[in-house]
Amino acid sequence: MDLMKKDIIFKEVTFLKGIGKKLSKYLKNRKIEKIKDILLNLPYSETDRSKLVKLDKLEIGKIQTIKVVVKKLNFPRIRNLPNKIICEDETGKIEIVYFNSREGYLRKLFKINETVIISGKINFFNKKYQITNPDYVTDTDKEDYVKKIIPKYTLTKGINEKKYRALSDEVINNLPNIDDWHDESFLKKNNFIKWRENIVTLHKTKEGQNPKSKAYKRLVFDEICANLLVLSKNRKKIKKKKRKKVFRFYYEKKIINNLPFKLTNSQKSVLREINNDLISETRMFRIIQGDVGSGKTIISLLAAGNVIESNYQCALMAPTEILAKQHFILTKKIFKNTNIKIEILTGKTERKKREKIINDLETGNINFLIGTHSLFQKKINFKNLGLAIIDEQHKFGVKQRGELANKGGKNCDLLLMSATPIPRTMMMSIYGDMDISKITEKPSSRKKIITLSKPESKINELWSFIKKQIDNDNQIFWICPLIEESNFVDFSSVKNKFELIGKKFPKRVGLIHGALDKNEKEKVLNKFLNKEIHILVSTTVIEVGIDFPNANLIVIENANKFGLAQLHQLRGRVGRGDKQGICILLFKKSLSKNSIKRIKTLKNSDDGFYIAEEDMKLRGFGDLIGYQQSGTKNFRFADPIIHQDMFLLAENYIKNFDYKDDENRFTFLLKLFDKAEIINQEFD
Ligand code: ADP
Ligand code: MG
Repeated sequence: MDLMKKDIIFKEVTFLKGIGKKLSKYLKNRKIEKIKDILLNLPYSETDRSKLVKLDKLEIGKIQTIKVVVKKLNFPRIRNLPNKIICEDETGKIEIVYFNSREGYLRKLFKINETVIISGKINFFNKKYQITNPDYVTDTDKEDYVKKIIPKYTLTKGINEKKYRALSDEVINNLPNIDDWHDESFLKKNNFIKWRENIVTLHKTKEGQNPKSKAYKRLVFDEICANLLVLSKNRKKIKKKKRKKVFRFYYEKKIINNLPFKLTNSQKSVLREINNDLISETRMFRIIQGDVGSGKTIISLLAAGNVIESNYQCALMAPTEILAKQHFILTKKIFKNTNIKIEILTGKTERKKREKIINDLETGNINFLIGTHSLFQKKINFKNLGLAIIDEQHKFGVKQRGELANKGGKNCDLLLMSATPIPRTMMMSIYGDMDISKITEKPSSRKKIITLSKPESKINELWSFIKKQIDNDNQIFWICPLIEESNFVDFSSVKNKFELIGKKFPKRVGLIHGALDKNEKEKVLNKFLNKEIHILVSTTVIEVGIDFPNANLIVIENANKFGLAQLHQLRGRVGRGDKQGICILLFKKSLSKNSIKRIKTLKNSDDGFYIAEEDMKLRGFGDLIGYQQSGTKNFRFADPIIHQDMFLLAENYIKNFDYKDDENRFTFLLKLFDKAEIINQEFD
């Protein structure tokens, strides 16, 4: 293989000798598609085959290497009996056992009275040491290839260590020499080594298994840089000149005067930031970050009023049908007694209505369109879209953000809203292409939700309490982690609970979980919203944004299974109206110290962002809610807790040079982390 041409590492693995269709499919399961993915597949451990062990010192169950003389070959003529080779050294004997191996092959490998090196897992069977299907057998002049500490990679079925090692060795030993994208002085100053040397170190030493090692950190640094570069390019593409909006706050003032509440200071300052963007000559690309219930929606609607006054259309996109409908109802209420024309468009809108909406959008008869993803289909063309608002943006990756901007057109400002807590360390590398507005306080009128914890053994004490709630026409969420009971984990399931609670409160209970289809889910949610049922037994599927003003109690079973941030978001579903919200956490057993600490955090705070940070410190970062689904899982190596320093370093680094002058220098880096496609996304 000629890896000296550096671009070859971006070719498919089938480019390598010995990888055909079948093997490449196996590798794909491990996300190894291009040759460079072999470089990024770091060893997770290693096997020590470096020492030769005498046969009287073997350890059963361990992988060991022996140097022995071949004494006897035994090929039974009966089917299904294994072939055996008897070997010995001066201290003892061992049997090498082969199932399904051809005699000719074995005769070549094992010659009577010759010395061989064998490495494999030691078994003990019928009072004899055995190695079955050894990993390596070689004669003594190739001994050095086997007698090594050999990196261990996670492998899929269908490729053995020896084969994979040969592949990865071939790639790593033939790495192209490329000009490092970082200056030598920068590398030196930060104790980094050159890219090529670094990759070799990651594979051939323990550094690849240690996220705190120097070599690993360089990889992390590069990964963060690649992300930041993409974001900075995205920002430049989007934040271009536009026609500024002109308005006199006509609707804004009118709406605020009619609100049954006062905006919080935080809401006011965020609205000011947005308005400043609207009247500027640069497109807005802003995200409102605010905890559940902090009042993001109203702010976006006030901004929409200003944009409509300025003679532009607005669009608001929600992640689900129900949420879109709630926004639609709210928007109509807010803008009633105005001449603003508002419509809703979802996957369910029937054809005739849809056609009329499409037509009215093009003529400008509709000022404000609310809906789901269907808002941004090809067929839909606005006359002059001036603002696109995206609620709960976490399903939007960098790429989609770019596409959205493109669809909106030159004069379209973009406003995103999110309640997903992102660790502070990662803020820049996830939202770095946008301006960030934070709503840091909650409406003061909101009562704090009472959070209680109880052992599950006392569940029977709850029923009378629940009966009282129903008698007062309150509504209840009951959350279980599983859909169905499982033999493997001791968690409760919604199906069982639905049955049990249904017996206690006939006809008052509904069931919802992820295995239901969309329509069924919505039917149940609507029943709950319309108060046809009082208790909703559910997994964690219900979206964050939906308003259930009448729900005041949430019971969460097996609460220690959930992350704190998730518990916080679950509990945020109650207490949205004027009733006191209550959250009851049920636990199976007595709690560990750590669990008690976590629950305390939850009881004492109602700040989702603070809770998420605390949870991250206690449990690590992978559990953070929203993070996995968020499309923000841009990082394979970087961890916001372990690598805080690298995030900071990368942010300063990217800030301090002009990317435009130096674009080509990072091509290789961007390709390495699959970012080239995003960066080359073309805009009108
Ligand atoms: P989120 O930020 O989670 O999207 P919403 O915008 O849905 O929150 O607001 C939650 C509830 O709080 C809504 O019923 C809304 O009318 C209400 N609300 C918004 N701002 C205020 C405020 N300043 N004072 C009191 N209630 C408010
Ligand atoms: Mg919301």
